[in-house]
Amino acid sequence: AAVAEEPITPPVQISYTQHVINGKFVDAASGKTFPTYDPRTGEVIAHVAEGDAEDINRAVAAARKAFDEGPWPKMTAYERSRIMLRFADLVEKHSEELAALETWNNGKPFEQSFKSELPMLVRLFHYYAGWADKIHGLTVPADGNYHVQTLHEPIGVAGQIIPWNFPLLMFAWKVGPALACGNTIVLKTAEQTPLTALYVAKLFHEAGLPPGVLNVVSGYGPTAGAPLVSHMDVDKIAFTGSTDIGKIVLELAAKSNLKPVTLELGGKSPFIVCEDADIDRAVEEAHFALFFNQGQCCCAGSRTFVHERVYDEFLEKAKARAMRRTVGDPFKNGIEQGPQIDSEQFEKVLRYIRSGIESKATLECGGDRFGTRGYFVQPTVFSNVKDDMLIAQDEIFGPVQSILKFKDLDEVIQRANTTRYGLAAGVFTRSVQTANTLTRALRAGTVWVNCFDVFDAAIPFGGYKMSGIGREKGIYSLHNYLQVKAVVTPVKNPAW
Ligand code: ADP
Repeated sequence: AAVAEEPITPPVQISYTQHVINGKFVDAASGKTFPTYDPRTGEVIAHVAEGDAEDINRAVAAARKAFDEGPWPKMTAYERSRIMLRFADLVEKHSEELAALETWNNGKPFEQSFKSELPMLVRLFHYYAGWADKIHGLTVPADGNYHVQTLHEPIGVAGQIIPWNFPLLMFAWKVGPALACGNTIVLKTAEQTPLTALYVAKLFHEAGLPPGVLNVVSGYGPTAGAPLVSHMDVDKIAFTGSTDIGKIVLELAAKSNLKPVTLELGGKSPFIVCEDADIDRAVEEAHFALFFNQGQCCCAGSRTFVHERVYDEFLEKAKARAMRRTVGDPFKNGIEQGPQIDSEQFEKVLRYIRSGIESKATLECGGDRFGTRGYFVQPTVFSNVKDDMLIAQDEIFGPVQSILKFKDLDEVIQRANTTRYGLAAGVFTRSVQTANTLTRALRAGTVWVNCFDVFDAAIPFGGYKMSGIGREKGIYSLHNYLQVKAVVTPVKNPAW
């Protein structure tokens, strides 16, 4: 197996490990650092400044000043847009190093980082740069003799907390709309993947971003994330992560200054294969829906519901596809699956696999670690999965596909919706009526019909139920970063 070979040396150096506060790289106030790892081997690749409440205070003070005294919100929208475009150009120029750093710290295939995620990062900033000078309010036809208008103003200092599964894309989803709307930012990266955000923060300053507008603090959730959420000078929080932590975030925000919160949380998304579906396409997309990014996607199609008439054929092909999946060093060409992010996630995935076996789901393939080093897991498929099994209820966040059988549409709608989550759903059918019925009935923030994981800067993304609050990307993401001010003036004041 590929992992028995020596790991390929990543074509990049780790140059930035300090916080970015007020436009400068600085050590943690405490002087502390924490290790960051290569998930291919579990070896330490760098020591990164470890932020705590004091670093958050300093970063918030810088962001506050940059907001209250300018220049950011006082610049013209066009100037802000130009800086974002220059940043996108620099990202494009440094794509290869950035993709390598992302893969090194996260374990995702380099081909995915380089050919898909880096271009998407650039695209997202082009998209948001385009919005910067197109944000405006309304003239409101109110009763009476009043001229009424709405001003769309930035909220202020945005605190943003991101996860480790798509470090650069989550950076873009958060930072793009906040900057386009004229806010300033303190971003806390995930402790597993601090490296690429520091690199791009450097590029942003090279592009002309004024100091204090974008501050990046590395560190752990309870010690760096929580103080950011609780901070009295932070005006808004955007969080992506687990549902459990999302609840804590909402509580901390409420207990401090009632700052508004957007949350993008977990999922257990259904992928529904109807009897009239193109089975080969459905097999491939269902495979992609679950296994993409080592199964570490909040919207992973992690409950594959298959109609009983096509179940056997689907299962045989899905299993064959999973067994063909190429696992190994993510820097090697042609590798589809790298390691899980860390030992905690690796152990968690293996625990769920054991739980699937114990609850008498049928293990069709995989079921164990891959190789002997790092956090690789074999692509695993379970059939005969029942709704009440843990593997059908919990978010596994790993390469474990659960296949369930259904008989008719009403039944599958009901079962698909019987979950605390509501992030996404996939529907495979050739019938327009079936597609329409399912898309309306499924309680999920995205329904992909005859496709899956189609992400575009303009398509909103977010959850129903316990999958979150609010939408990211698209026009909807701007609402998270704007205040609406109503201005009311008598058209003619009789006293004048
Ligand atoms: P995961 O299980 O995918 O690691 P988490 O929800 O634990 O997801 O983490 C997502 C992000 O939330 C990370 O940046 C993490 O450091 C941060 N985080 C974890 N705990 C807290 C907390 N108590 N307050 C604020 N942020 C937190």
